[in-house]
Amino acid sequence: VNVVLGLAVVAALVWIAVIVGRRVSQIDRIRAASDGLAQAELLREGAVRERAIEVDSPAQIEPRVEREPCLRCGGRIHVEAHEIETIGELVLRRVRAACGGCGARSITWFRVRSSVVH
Ligand SMILES: [Zn+2]
Repeated sequence: VNVVLGLAVVAALVWIAVIVGRRVSQIDRIRAASDGLAQAELLREGAVRERAIEVDSPAQIEPRVEREPCLRCGGRIHVEAHEIETIGELVLRRVRAACGGCGARSITWFRVRSSVVH
């Protein structure tokens, strides 16, 4: 009787270990996928101020943002706000956009090439 009970306990422990292990690997997979997405978003052109996209005219900015599909779902992006930010002498434009499919929000930085002739 003791042997049977012992085997039942071992079987129960193995079963718990399998279930917990499966759940942990699932969490790891989700975490890895969202890390990859975060990295893709960081590498996106214009994602950070230091790598602002250069354009010749402000009119090119919004079509450029809306041309790129959403990184998460491939849906259409629409511009929500277009702001001007001045950092010292540098004038940058910050475009806030949202995906029409999944609602993911993004910010893209632009710099308009100077039209001043020296
Ligand atoms: Zn989306």
